[in-house]
Amino acid sequence: RAKSDARGTFAFFEAALDAKAQSRRKIEVELRDAIQNDVLRPFYQALVDLSSGRITGFEALVRWPHPERGMVSPAEFIPVAEDTGLINPLGGLMLRRACLDAVTWPDDVRVAVNLSPLQFRSGNLLSIVTDALKHSGLPPRRLELEITETLLLEKSAQVLATLHALRALGVRISMDDFGTGYSSLSYLRSFPFDKIKIDQSFVRDLGANREAQAIIRSIVSLGKGLGVTITAEGVETEAELSCLRAEGCDEGQGFLFSKARPNAEIISLLAAQRGIDGDTALVA
Ligand code: C2E
Ligand code: MG
Ligand code: MG
Ligand code: MG
Repeated sequence: RAKSDARGTFAFFEAALDAKAQSRRKIEVELRDAIQNDVLRPFYQALVDLSSGRITGFEALVRWPHPERGMVSPAEFIPVAEDTGLINPLGGLMLRRACLDAVTWPDDVRVAVNLSPLQFRSGNLLSIVTDALKHSGLPPRRLELEITETLLLEKSAQVLATLHALRALGVRISMDDFGTGYSSLSYLRSFPFDKIKIDQSFVRDLGANREAQAIIRSIVSLGKGLGVTITAEGVETEAELSCLRAEGCDEGQGFLFSKARPNAEIISLLAAQRGIDGDTALVA
């Protein structure tokens, strides 16, 4: 009995693994197609200055309008793109498109683009960024590049040199999902960056436990000490907003302000917000 149960369980897992591998394979094939046919688009989510309520910039988040499945979530295909190397063409086209879109926005509004560690390993990231800026005419100071702590884990001289070179161009570097990655803070001394984005898991826990507030408080004071901007991700409620304000957080991003929207809606969103000048309420 036990033996056949074990065999049954094994067969079950084997089938499940197979289904998973097949679905990833399908995503890979369709994603390659989507890249080739240029159907991927950045949507833009507002970054809001918490003291003035003004939009300082937008984060570009990739969206894949799929013929059968509607908008496919990046959580589903970014991991596949990273495993298959498709993240390089995907990342390149997001960068170019984001710069072209941002150049049509007001001059004081930045655009933030996510970078995968693999793009740093490709060896030509610096020229891809330089080309995207040149081709669009976007001033480097209006481009922000989001990296994660995992990139710094490698302690690679090439990564460090690339980050310094990007900053020398005038581009800003943000540390995304801060607090979820590498536990050692020693890298903060050697890596050049301009902004820390507190991961949304800490913001989510704000109402529920005092530890989350203590963690946010210490990240804010760390940021002030380092002279970098502190942005909170995933702000959904007024209660979270007022807590983040009280802790001295500089910027916020989240559904409370706005979800990610297509570029066609960005200009009017900015115009509406500038019309009410100084008003904090950015209605989603
Ligand atoms: P991320 O860079 O940390 O982006 C923030 C994610 O949080 C976005 O999910 C955004 O829609 C979501 N979010 C924003 N505000 C809220 C909120 O108030 N509540 C909740 N629950 N979620 C909120 P999205 O667009 O699904 O992207 C997921 C991740 O996929 C991104 O996390 C990023 O790591 C990756 N990603 C997206 N676009 C790109 C890209 O062009 N290149 C690369 N390499 N990664 C990308
Ligand atoms: Mg990001
Ligand atoms: Mg993040
Ligand atoms: Mg994230």
